[in-house]
Order: sequence, then C-alpha cells, then structure tokens
Amino acid sequence: MHFDALIVGAGFAGLYQLHCLRDRLGLTVRVLEAGGDLGGTWYWNRYPGARCDSESHVYRYFFSRELSAEWQSSERYPGASEIRAYLDYVARKLDLRRDIQFGTRVVAASYAEGANRWTIETDSGARMSATWLVTAVGCLSAANVPDIPGLHDFQGKWYHTGQWPRDGVDFSGKRVGQIGTGSTGIQSAPVIAQTAAHLTVFQRTANYSVPARNAPLTAEFNRWVRESFDELREATRSTINGHAFRIAERNVADVSPEEREEIYRAAWAKGGLQFRATFRDVMTNRAANQTMAEFVKARIRDVVSNPEAAADLADIDHPYAAKRPPIDTDYFETFNRPNVSLVNLRKDPIERITADGIRTKTAEHKLDLIVFATGFDALTGPLLRMNIRGRSGRLLREDWKAGPRTYLGLQMPGYPNLFTITGPGSPSVLTNMPVAIEQHVEWITDCIAHMREHGIRTIEASEEATRTWGEHVQECARATLLWDAKHSWYFGANVPGKPQVFMPYSGGLARYRRTCEGVAARDYEGFVLDREGASEFSGAAATALPGV
Ligand SMILES: Cc1cc2nc3c(=O)[nH]c(=O)nc-3n(C[C@H](O)[C@H](O)[C@H](O)COP(=O)(O)OP(=O)(O)OC[C@H]3O[C@@H](n4cnc5c(N)ncnc54)[C@H](O)[C@@H]3O)c2cc1C
Repeated sequence: MHFDALIVGAGFAGLYQLHCLRDRLGLTVRVLEAGGDLGGTWYWNRYPGARCDSESHVYRYFFSRELSAEWQSSERYPGASEIRAYLDYVARKLDLRRDIQFGTRVVAASYAEGANRWTIETDSGARMSATWLVTAVGCLSAANVPDIPGLHDFQGKWYHTGQWPRDGVDFSGKRVGQIGTGSTGIQSAPVIAQTAAHLTVFQRTANYSVPARNAPLTAEFNRWVRESFDELREATRSTINGHAFRIAERNVADVSPEEREEIYRAAWAKGGLQFRATFRDVMTNRAANQTMAEFVKARIRDVVSNPEAAADLADIDHPYAAKRPPIDTDYFETFNRPNVSLVNLRKDPIERITADGIRTKTAEHKLDLIVFATGFDALTGPLLRMNIRGRSGRLLREDWKAGPRTYLGLQMPGYPNLFTITGPGSPSVLTNMPVAIEQHVEWITDCIAHMREHGIRTIEASEEATRTWGEHVQECARATLLWDAKHSWYFGANVPGKPQVFMPYSGGLARYRRTCEGVAARDYEGFVLDREGASEFSGAAATALPGV
C-alpha cells in the first residue's frame, strides 16, 4: 500500500502530525504504532505514581483554542491515565483513530532513490510505502534494562517502568527491589512503599528533587486556564523551555544570602520545576548553582531521619538540574518508613541478580519483585532500533556510530524526505515537550506544503549545515552546567557502548523556533531541495486547517 506519508508513533507528536498532514494538506496518511492504543509515553508508563512534571495547563496542545477550552484537568500535574484520557479526547474530536494502525512495530525503513519513496516493514512482515516518512517515535520510548548478570536466574517477577503491564502490579505483601532513582524512580518509590511489605531502593546516583506540591485544581483555576489561552500559548512559545513560567532576571549574587534563602524557601513551598527559575544564572554559573544545590541537600538532611540514609541521599555529585531535575511527592519522606531501605551502590555495588534477589558486595537482598526504573536509550534509541536505510542503502546506525548527526534535529543528510519530530539536536527533552512537538509538526507540515506547491521532489539536510549545527549544539551545551554531568542520559551515558555526545539542543526553545523560521524563510537554507520533476501527490489540494 502506498501513502503520501507514513508516521511512526501515536503519542502527542504522531497524533498532531496526522491531523496536520491529513486534514490540513489533504494527504493520504497512515500512522503505525507499536502499542495497543494511543498515548505514547503515557500508554507505556503506567508505573505507580506515573505523572507529568509539566503542569496540566501547559502540558497540552495549543493549536486549537476549542480543543483546549473543552478539556478540564483535575490536578496540578496530570497523571498518566488523565493524559491518556486527554489524548483520547483529542483523537475523538479530530477523528484520528481511523488512520492509526496499533500493535504494529516498524522494524525497517529504507529509501529507494529511483522511485523516491520510503518503504517500511512491520513486525508482522507487512510492507507499506510513502513519499514522506515522519518519525514520531519519542525521545524516551526505548526502555533500557541494564545488563546485570543473573537477571535470567531471578525466580520472581521483574518489570521496567516504561513497559508497565496494563493491568498493574500488586505489591501487597511483596519484597520489592527498585533499581534507579531518576525522575521515574523518585515518583514510583513512595507509591510502591505504600503497599509493599518491604521496598529496597538501589541508588547508583543520588539525585536532587523538589516537592511537586500536587493538588486538585479548582473550577476557578480551570476558568482562568480557559480565559488565558492566548497568554498561555504566547508564554509557552516565548520561554526558553516551553513552560509558562519565566526565569527571573536576577543573578544569585544580586541578592544577600538571607534574601536568597527566603527566595529558595518560597519556591520550595510553591513546588515544581519553577524552583530552578528563581535565578537567571543557576545553569551557567557554578557558584550560583551551588547555592541552590546546597539548599536542596539541606532539605534532604532535614527530612530524612536516618543520618546514614540522609548522607547517602544528599551525596549528589552533579550541579542542580544538570541531570533532568525531578519533582516528587514524599520521595525523601519515604525513607523514614520502617518498610523502606536504601542501598548506596557507590559503596556497595550489585554483584549479580540471583534466583531470589539481588546480591551486592556486602549483602543478599531477598526479593519477590524487581522494578527497573532505569530509563531509556534516549533520543537516538527509538530511531536506531528502526533500522533506517537512506540513499544507496546507507544505514543510520553506521552514520551515527560516533553520535547523532542532524540538522536542527529535523533531518539528516542521506535520508531525503525523512523528518524526525523532536530528534536529537532539537530542544526536545529540555522543554515542556508538547510545545516543542507542535513547533516541529507545524514546521514539517509547512515544509511539505511548500514542496508540493513548488514541485520539490526531495528535501534533505546538507552535510555542511549538519556539521555546523552539530558544533552549535555542542557549543550551547558547553556554555551551561549541563556539560558537567557527563553521566547523564543527555550524553547517552546510561547505555553501555553508546557514544558520549550531548544530544538535545540547549540554546532555548524560543531561539530555536526563530532559527527554524529563518531557515524556512530563506528557502530552506541548509537543506538540499531537488526541484527536478515534481513527484505525484495523491492527496487533495491544500485546505485550510478546519476548526476543531
Ligand atoms: C516517565 C516520563 C515522564 C515524562 N514527563 C514529562 C514531563 O513532565 N514533561 C514533558 O514535557 N515531557 C515529559 N516526558 C516526555 C514525554 O515523552 C513527552 O512529553 C511526550 O509524551 C512525547 O510524545 P511523542 O509523541 O513525541 O513520543 P512518545 O509519547 O514517546 O510516543 C512515541 C510512540 O512511538 C512508538 N514507537 C516507537 N518506535 C516505534 C516503532 N519502531 N514502530 C512503531 N511505533 C513505535 C512508541 O510505541 C510510542 O508510543 C516524560 C517521559 C517519561 C517517560
């Protein structure tokens, strides 16, 4: 079967891309999704406590006022099931499901130069082709289970948080081991501890966390959200990170230590990601960052009553927010429970998993169940797992052996008409992602509309633009303290053998948006456009975006 466009993935990105290409440009489109339903991240991540750290009034689409106005969030931070319900609501409003094929994993994609088409192969052996291939595979969708010796010997059950069973897991009466203390582990531990007989948290890297202060939303707040649609959209599009809060203008050194403490305490009481927005220079100035880091470490020591656990939890080796900054509900408090213990793997590393638990250098931990909150083969993983082949059979996995090479995170040389939504080299995971996703989807849609209008057969990132952009991405990261946390997944450090390259673009979403707009306005500067002979389009003529 041939389509104008194939889209891989049915999360926030794939759903909106389908709407734009099908309903705005009139293309024939099919979405292929490995999961059994839509939702992407929120379809797969059903672990206890799974919740968004972006606030619900910004973790949504902004392309339609009506779509936003009719949706009511129930809590400050939407939980996984509420986000699934939201995306289901969007899909119903826009009649998206009829063009999505669930339970279908794309296992190969290759470009044929003569025919100028992409052919994909699915896990059931089916083949489909398209003029444009858009990957909406997500940055955090390829689960990373660490290769710990003995896992196959384990007689209990084990789960990765990013592939959580749809029917849930019953922890009651169970001895549970949780490996991983990133954003996910910090969300899951307090909830698992509520029903497990015992929870042992295995910590390799101690982490900061700020209270989320989740709460139900009032009718008044929801009214404000409805009435502030324009302001919220404008705010999310003009900030560095796609959130609605602005980063303060002041530097840490502009205020006295007493004032600084007061500012931190107020932000701590308010909770959420905006804690790091209290000063302008915390991500660029080590001394400034240290004041914030010390403040959080002091709160950990305040909360955790066991001095040894408190010391292990506060023994954090990277600047605040240099790794993804978690927010939590009672994470540190959880270590005061009698049924929770902490194992510091820096002091007492795992030797192997045994039939009945985990053996560390000094102890045997008997377990019925292991939870891997060990994150993802981020950004590149989902793309590389698809076996993408471009011109002359070149393999993306080979081209990216030394790290991802993209132009704007949107395209790569040698792979014409292939677009990557929130690909490496774009702001992606450093932002409130629906905003970054909308920007990419709209840019790609405009680009394809431009190609049709001007009879452009192929578009492809140039080698030179890709090289320059890659250098710029590294330069931007080097200018921040993100560069200091070399063991973060932003560098790919959590996956053995993965090239250590800073992957997302840290120059800011607003600046990035302007760059992309400028590139398009200058006739797709940095892209190679093949204007020889227009390709055939089976879709109807471009139509205006219908009101939804
Ligand atoms: C635990 C967790 C918490 C998060 N919290 C936040 C937050 O607070 N704020 C925020 O902005 N973002 C957060 N994110 C990031 C989140 O991924 C994005 O916000 C958003 O959901 C991404 O949407 P997407 O459509 O780009 O990708 P995804 O939602 O990841 O969807 C991609 C889809 O592609 C499918 N797919 C991948 N490969 C294939 C293939 N080969 N064949 C077929 N289908 C395939 C996957 O099954 C998946 O359903 C979080 C992520 C995780 C994992």
